[in-house]
Amino acid sequence: MFDNLSDRLTGAFQKIRGQKRLDESNVQAGLREVRLALLEADVNFKVVKQFVDQVRDRALGEDVLKGLDPGQQVVKIVHEELVELLGGEQQGVDTSGARPLKIMMVGLQGSGKTTSSGKIAIWLRDQGFKPYLVPADVYRPAAIDQLVTLAGQIDVPVYPSTTEMNPVDICRDAMEKAAEAGCDAILFDTAGRLHVDEPLMQELAGIKEACTPQEILFVADAMTGQDAVTVAESFNERLDISGVVLTKMDGDARGGAALSIKSVTGKSVKFVGLGEKLTDMELFHPDRVASRILG
Ligand code: GDP
Repeated sequence: MFDNLSDRLTGAFQKIRGQKRLDESNVQAGLREVRLALLEADVNFKVVKQFVDQVRDRALGEDVLKGLDPGQQVVKIVHEELVELLGGEQQGVDTSGARPLKIMMVGLQGSGKTTSSGKIAIWLRDQGFKPYLVPADVYRPAAIDQLVTLAGQIDVPVYPSTTEMNPVDICRDAMEKAAEAGCDAILFDTAGRLHVDEPLMQELAGIKEACTPQEILFVADAMTGQDAVTVAESFNERLDISGVVLTKMDGDARGGAALSIKSVTGKSVKFVGLGEKLTDMELFHPDRVASRILG
């Protein structure tokens, strides 16, 4: 995960870590490397600036340089700030509220929405829920078939959507059918497009209004870096998303999406996709990811 970023930061820290004495210019030089490493990892430039300023202020302002082992202290500050950048405390789906728990999955086509819906259905079942899946992408017959097949593989009931139906009607009716089936968690797998467009946003706003989901999870392909962040902003402005699922973190994503999305949108990454299999998903732990990045 984020191998290049990790290598670059390790390199930057080698210069700082071992030093018995640090002065302002050593710190500035180290931070220049950190800045370049983050920019190369496709982290939003405003986020990089804030991050580096914050680390510099703390490193130069807290008597760090006069203390014991200043190099180690600076690395510790970077670690703490990195955890904040990644979202701070781990945020999951709140499963304590009213039943049914309704989760709306949104995002561009190919981001991993359908696969993530299946993965989250398994996660919900592990939490003691009886999940119900709703294919609400009526524009691509393959999308409905994909979710139906996947539901069969994990033995979860699925709403019998067809391409002639209206997505809002599907979601409304699915809530009744889920209740009849005794299910207490509903996952709406909505339509995606190659780009954000107004009819899609209107449709999603209509589903949100009809279903009042507790969670709207924006699914983002981590490999698309800053593009994922820009698209997340559009979805958030329109739908007020509750969190992010970052997929394809098993690939060679550079880290830009994971490190920028919380600062830019204010919404945390809740889950990460780590492969194509339905078991390849984990909760996102900012502290663990920061530790992995810093090696
Ligand atoms: P959707 O169009 O947003 O519903 O996207 P899909 O769920 O169909 O996923 C698109 C492609 O990405 C499929 O080939 C999935 O197997 C793949 N995919 C989804 N999540 C992951 C992931 O976490 N890791 C990897 N490597 N592939 C993924």
